[in-house]
Amino acid sequence: MFTLVYPGPEVKPVEVKASCPKHRKYDPNVEGRGGIVGGCKVCRLMLEVFEANHRAESAVRDMRINAELLEDAIRKARAK
Ligand SMILES: [Zn+2]
Repeated sequence: MFTLVYPGPEVKPVEVKASCPKHRKYDPNVEGRGGIVGGCKVCRLMLEVFEANHRAESAVRDMRINAELLEDAIRKARAK
């Protein structure tokens, strides 16, 4: 078991604003990997942060769904 603090739907998420000093219009959400010009390290790191956040949100959602399914299965097995 572990405890982590992660913003849920009832908590206002923390907003992180970042831009590349050289490619100010680069948006990892819109342009993805293909929008990175000349292998820019800052743009690549911005994309990594964006992708890591997306994976974390997805993992938390999947974990919650699976925990609810398991809890339902346990409850049904005990009711028999
Ligand atoms: Zn850049």
